Amino acid sequence: MTAVNRVAIVGAGVAGLAAAIQLARAGVTVEVFEAKPELSAKGSGITLQGNALRAFDQLGVWAEIEAAGKAFEGLNLRAPGPGAPIVASLPDLKTGGPDYPSTMGMSRPDLARILLAAAERAGAHVTFGATATGIEQTADAAELVLDSGPAGSFDLVIGADGLNSAVRGLIGIDAKPEPTGMGIWRTFVSLPTDVERSELYYGGPMYIAGYTPTGDDTMYAFLVEKAQDRFGVDADESRRIMLEQSRAYDGPWNAIRADIEAGASANYTWFTRHLVEGDWNRGRVVIIGDAAHSCPPTIAQGAAQGLEDAIVLTELLVDHDVIDESLWAEFHARRVPRASAIVDASVQLGQWQLDGVRDADTGGLMFRVAQLTAQPA
Ligand SMILES: Cc1cc2nc3c(=O)[nH]c(=O)nc-3n(C[C@H](O)[C@H](O)[C@H](O)COP(=O)(O)OP(=O)(O)OC[C@H]3O[C@@H](n4cnc5c(N)ncnc54)[C@H](O)[C@@H]3O)c2cc1C
Repeated sequence: MTAVNRVAIVGAGVAGLAAAIQLARAGVTVEVFEAKPELSAKGSGITLQGNALRAFDQLGVWAEIEAAGKAFEGLNLRAPGPGAPIVASLPDLKTGGPDYPSTMGMSRPDLARILLAAAERAGAHVTFGATATGIEQTADAAELVLDSGPAGSFDLVIGADGLNSAVRGLIGIDAKPEPTGMGIWRTFVSLPTDVERSELYYGGPMYIAGYTPTGDDTMYAFLVEKAQDRFGVDADESRRIMLEQSRAYDGPWNAIRADIEAGASANYTWFTRHLVEGDWNRGRVVIIGDAAHSCPPTIAQGAAQGLEDAIVLTELLVDHDVIDESLWAEFHARRVPRASAIVDASVQLGQWQLDGVRDADTGGLMFRVAQLTAQPA
């Protein structure tokens, strides 16, 4: 017996679809409601660490992820000057264990497509163009309301609705993402022949300049700056800014600039941080993923933590007979300290750069995070 028979999931991102897959595979009736009219076919790339890859295996989609993405080991550091020589090749811990590569890059639309297909195959019903606007709770049920009207009565509502979660507000949790002071430009381009793994430029005018392969012929590239109000900037101006800000970087950045000049789009967003302290549930409603925590992608753990939230939550819902305090106590004990440590470390790495700290123990902090994420969630 499972603790739930009928569950609503708000949001068809990584966390929501992971929860949908696990619950539907356990025989639970799962309704996913997603505000967007359809999955986006365009988008940038994402870096997935070993612990995320281990989670995909638990979801039964590892073979598809492995085929769609680009696995690699380690990280190169390049100097910003002429020729952009590689000055160091750093090893990675295999945080997923020996069965998975240490890191993988992939296109976000491919990841979304694979997870959606797996959720539907497992029996979850996904409705697009459905925005959650209200929740009423009784002792035995949570009633979800959409912009189009009532969605029905559920044993549990999972709010996996991202950074600006409506569900979080509807259950009275007032934590909100705060800017960390950094902004990132990203572009999705073709893979230069001399790039095999993630590379970062050590030094130069930007806080971070780098790229990650996402397939045999694609990658995403990024430049991190002090956060600025860039939100009214149009597409041509965005490309111009990325071209200008990357001029100091030679080597593969020449090919990236050629793609931007040929029309590759550039998009901009700020880094944020938040963590819901204490419980992530109120009665029969719980938030997971970016709804509960966000961090800058300095260690590329945001999606990985959302996946882990979904896996731990659904494991408890399947193993327990009822939703009770012991279920929530175990969920929070397994998730809150881990997510909190990752948010703090991700923010710290960016803050050292903002503060110009030269002797920061970046390697030590990243190693400690890798040791933590190598442990099962
Ligand atoms: C610049 C940047 C780079 C990043 N790079 C990485 C990386 O390399 N590796 C990594 O692991 N993480 C990375 N992250 C973090 C990662 O993208 C997120 O942690 C992850 O996508 C969150 O997944 P989620 O499912 O919680 O939320 P989301 O992916 O945001 O999904 C939430 C969904 O809910 C829907 N929704 C919202 N409101 C409603 C509503 N009221 N009703 C119905 N649906 C609703 C949204 O449309 C959306 O589809 C990065 C983040 C940023 C900002």
